[in-house]
Amino acid sequence: MNTSKSKQLFEKAKEFIPGGVNSPVRAFKAVGGDPLFISHAEGAYIYDVDGNEYIEAINSWGPMVLGHNHPLVREAVIKAMEKGTSFGAPTGMEVEIAELITKMVPSVEKVRMVNSGTEATMSAVRLARGFTGKDKFLKFEGNYHGHGDSFLISAGSGAITMGNPDSPGVTSGTAKDTLLAPFNDLEKVKEVVEANKGEIAAIILEPVAGNMGCVLPEPGFLEGLREICDVEEIVLIFDEVMTGFRLSPGGAQQYLGVTPDLTTMGKIIGGGMPVGAYGGKAEIMDFVSPSGPVYQAGTLSGNPIAMSAGLTMLKYLDENPNVYTQLEKTGETLVTGLKDSLKRVGLPYTINNLGSMYTLFFTDQKVKNFADAQTCDTGIFGKYFRGMLEKGIYLAPSQFESLFLSTALEDTHLNKILEANEKTLKSL
Ligand code: PMP
Repeated sequence: MNTSKSKQLFEKAKEFIPGGVNSPVRAFKAVGGDPLFISHAEGAYIYDVDGNEYIEAINSWGPMVLGHNHPLVREAVIKAMEKGTSFGAPTGMEVEIAELITKMVPSVEKVRMVNSGTEATMSAVRLARGFTGKDKFLKFEGNYHGHGDSFLISAGSGAITMGNPDSPGVTSGTAKDTLLAPFNDLEKVKEVVEANKGEIAAIILEPVAGNMGCVLPEPGFLEGLREICDVEEIVLIFDEVMTGFRLSPGGAQQYLGVTPDLTTMGKIIGGGMPVGAYGGKAEIMDFVSPSGPVYQAGTLSGNPIAMSAGLTMLKYLDENPNVYTQLEKTGETLVTGLKDSLKRVGLPYTINNLGSMYTLFFTDQKVKNFADAQTCDTGIFGKYFRGMLEKGIYLAPSQFESLFLSTALEDTHLNKILEANEKTLKSL
C-alpha cells in the first residue's frame, strides 16, 4: 500500500500543527505508523490522498450513521448555504430541530444547541451546579466527556491513548470538585456520595461507555444511579454524545429504559457538522440564560448550515425506524463472525457490543470498567489495527475506542471485514 502522500503531509503538518493533527487520536500514536490523510469519503468507503480505498468502521467517530456524504444531508447543506452561512439570530430551523429532539428523546423537554460535545457536557454540569447550588460532581473512570478542565481526570478516549488521563493544565482547585468511581460499581458510588453528602450536584456518565472501548452497564447499574440521584437530589446526566440517535431513536436511555434528568448530545445530531446539544427537564433547563441565571452562549450556536444537516439527519432517523433494525443486524453479523474467527484461530479475547457499537479487547478477561480495559495488550491491538488497515479496513486507531457502524455497510462489505479479521488474527 502506497501512502507516500499521507507521509509527506504528516511531515509538513508537524511543522505547523502540534503533533501534526487537530485531535490527538488521529495521529495513530497508539497503533504505530503514520496517519492517513483523507481526500474524500462516500457511503461505506473512505479514501486517502494516495488513492487507497478503505471500508469504514469508525464513521467520523460516530456521526455518519447513514454512511458518508449521504445525498439528503449533502443537499440540505447546499440548500442552506445558498441563504448565507451564519446570522447570529434565531431561525425557524432551530425551533424545528428542538421540537424534533424533544419528540425523539422524551426526557428532553427543552434543549439548547451548542457547537460540540465538549460544550454540551461543560454546560450541562454548570447547569446542574447552578440548579442545585452544589459544587461537586461525580464521573466514572475511563468515561470521556470532552476536554473541559473538570472532565480531564481519569478521562477516557485519547486521554488514555496519549497516557494523560489526568491532563497537566487542570488546576488542583478544579480537580478537587471532580469525584471518581469505577464504572459499574454502585457500592463505590454510594460510598463517594455518602462521604460528600449534600455536596454533589451531578452524576455524569456514558450510559453505554465507548471511550474506554465499548463497555456496557451491568444490569441494575443505571437503575441504581437513578435511585441514588432521586434520594440525594443529584442531577443525573447521561452523556449520549456517542449513543444518542445511534442505539435507538431515543438513544441509550430508550434502549435501556432508564431516564436521566439531563442529556448531552453530539455527533449524529449534526449530521457531520460541528454540533452538540444539552437538554432535559424544563424545570432545570429554564435555569439557563436568558430564562434563568446560568450563563451559556455561542456566536455560532444553532448555525443554519449545521442545523440544516442535523435536522435532515434526525428527520430521516425519525421516519425510518428500519435504520435501527439494520444497524443491530449489521452489528450482530460482524460480532458473530468475529467471535467465530477468534474461536477458529484459538484466541481467547473479549468482545463487548451493543447495536452498532463494538470493541474487540485484547484481553481474556471480562471488561466492565476502566481497570479491566487496561489489562489489554495494546501492542497486539496495534498489530491487529495495522493488519486490518493494510487489508482495506479502517478501524479506530486505539484499543480504547468503540467502532461505529453505518447503514451503508452491505453484506459484501461485512464479508470483506470478516475475511480481513480472520487473516489478520491468524497473523498475530
Ligand atoms: N462525550 C462523549 C461521550 C464523547 O464520546 C465525546 C467525543 N468523542 C465528547 C463528549 C466530546 O465531544 P466533542 O469531541 O464533539 O467535543
